[in-house]
Amino acid sequence: MLETKGIPTHFIDTSAPNEMRVCRVEILPLEVVVRNIAAGSLCKQTGIALGTIVNPPLVEFYYKNDDLGDPLLTRDRLLLMKLATGEQVDQLETAAREINEILKEFFSQCGITLVDFKLEFGTDKHQNLLLADEISPDTCRLWDNSETDPDARVMDKDRFRRDLGSVESAYQQVLKRVLAQKV
Ligand code: UDP
Repeated sequence: MLETKGIPTHFIDTSAPNEMRVCRVEILPLEVVVRNIAAGSLCKQTGIALGTIVNPPLVEFYYKNDDLGDPLLTRDRLLLMKLATGEQVDQLETAAREINEILKEFFSQCGITLVDFKLEFGTDKHQNLLLADEISPDTCRLWDNSETDPDARVMDKDRFRRDLGSVESAYQQVLKRVLAQKV
């Protein structure tokens, strides 16, 4: 769906329900996080209240490094560490914002609010920047628009992390709605 809307990705096809063929890329050691609504580490680190609308959406970069605890990076730190070029940082931010608009609209048609999500990118052998990795309830915060209760609305990994139960049925509900949506 993203490819048809002009976002270059590493995706080729799905060879089985739990497999995908992808183009080989060199992954940038960055997590690109986009936020439409305050949750998770944004609330923890800033004191902004859970559920606050973030407008314009926030695009953040985190360093993928377990030993350092995946720290939040500034653009200057990212350049200092040579994790990406200035041109790549601009491309990443533009792509992240475009992907956000597409996914926000798509999930909205599924009756789901896209709260925040994480993307990863890589470069192919021609140095083209491609969206890589996966987009799933493991990498997104998704809230059910038909639920007002703050726990009942959670359809993502937070159900597991916060021990809310019904993890599988929530993921299946996301899948059902995504598949029902014509793209
Ligand atoms: N995220 C992810 N992998 C990570 C860190 C974050 O997929 O290693 C996703 C997370 O699921 C959420 C978004 O990125 O949708 C923002 O996460 P946040 O910074 O709030 O961190 P959290 O407190 O969720 O770990």
